[in-house]
Amino acid sequence: MRAADIQDDLSQILVTEEEILAKLDELAARVAEDYAGKDLLLVGVLKGAVMVMADFSRALPMDAPMDWMAVSSYGASTKSSGVVQIRKDLDTDLHGKHVLIVEDIIDSGLTLSWLLENFESRGADSIEVLALLRKPEAAKVEIDCRYVGFDIPNEFVVGYGLDYAESYRNLRDVAVLAPHVYS
Ligand code: IMP
Ligand code: MG
Repeated sequence: MRAADIQDDLSQILVTEEEILAKLDELAARVAEDYAGKDLLLVGVLKGAVMVMADFSRALPMDAPMDWMAVSSYGASTKSSGVVQIRKDLDTDLHGKHVLIVEDIIDSGLTLSWLLENFESRGADSIEVLALLRKPEAAKVEIDCRYVGFDIPNEFVVGYGLDYAESYRNLRDVAVLAPHVYS
C-alpha cells in the first residue's frame, strides 16, 4: 500500500519509495566498490530489515549471500527497552567473512551496539553497518555506521518494513505514525 491508502493513520510522509530505491542504488554502488574481491556476507535483522535487504541486495552489482538474525526489540511499544534477546541466530560461520549488517533504522542504537559486540567474538574479518534510516537525536550510544540512507527527526515512523505492533510494514513509503493511532 501507499501512504495515500491509509492517510488518516499518518501525519507526514518522510521518505517515498522512489527516494528509498534511488538511495539504495547509490549505497549499493558504494558497497560494491568497497567490497570488490572480498567475501561479503549481508546480515539482515528481522523483521524490520526485510524490505531494505530485498531492494539493497538486488541493487548490488555483485554476488553476496545473506543471512538473518532475529532479536527482540520493542514489542508493541514505541520506546526502546534496551533489552536484547536472540530469537533466531545466524546459520553462517563468520570466520573469514566481511559482514555488512543491514538494518532498517538506528534509533537509540542499543540493539546494534549489542549486536556489534556479539559479532566481535565470532571471527569476522570486518563488520560494518548499513542503515536505511537514522534518528540522530535519539542516540543513546554512538554507532559507527558506514552507510546511512536518511537522517530523520526523532519521531515514530512506519512503513518499508518498519512496524507499529506488526502493522504498516507493507507500506511502500516511510511515514510518521499519527499519534492518535498509539495513544
Ligand atoms: P534501537 O535499538 O533503539 O536503535 O532500535 C531497535 C529497533 O527498533 C529497530 O531496528 C527497529 O526495528 C525498531 N524501531 C526503532 N525506531 C522505530 C520507529 O520509529 N518505528 C518503528 N520501529 C522502530
Ligand atoms: Mg520493530
